[in-house]
Amino acid sequence: MNKQDIKNLIALASGSFPSIQKTDLVQIGKTWEEMFGKYEYQLVRDALRTVLIYAKFFPSVSEIQEAINSLRSEQTNPKPIITDCPNCRGNGYLTIRQDGEERYCRCPCKAGERLSGWPTAPGWALDTSDIPF
Ligand SMILES: [Zn+2]
Repeated sequence: MNKQDIKNLIALASGSFPSIQKTDLVQIGKTWEEMFGKYEYQLVRDALRTVLIYAKFFPSVSEIQEAINSLRSEQTNPKPIITDCPNCRGNGYLTIRQDGEERYCRCPCKAGERLSGWPTAPGWALDTSDIPF
């Protein structure tokens, strides 16, 4: 990631916490650059988005790192048994549009079991005809 990527992530996170001080954001940006600069932007963005769904406080480095680790292990350990799920294609999660924003939620198939802390996808978002439970 470059500096602009970090700025985009900070903007995304601070949009969730409008009361945070600008001076704090400068320091947070430096820390994130140091800690997450080595990762791909899209990976860190996905991780941050999953953290923000639950965050009651501004996300910490460890929360984001945990989400990065979990996304990376999904990427490096695909489980072929579940890849024919019509909703998540074996990722275990899907993106839905709700209240005008994109949200991640857990697929009710076998792949989604790994994401037990996530909210389950609402029925209207799922093609339930063919889920390999
Ligand atoms: Zn699924």
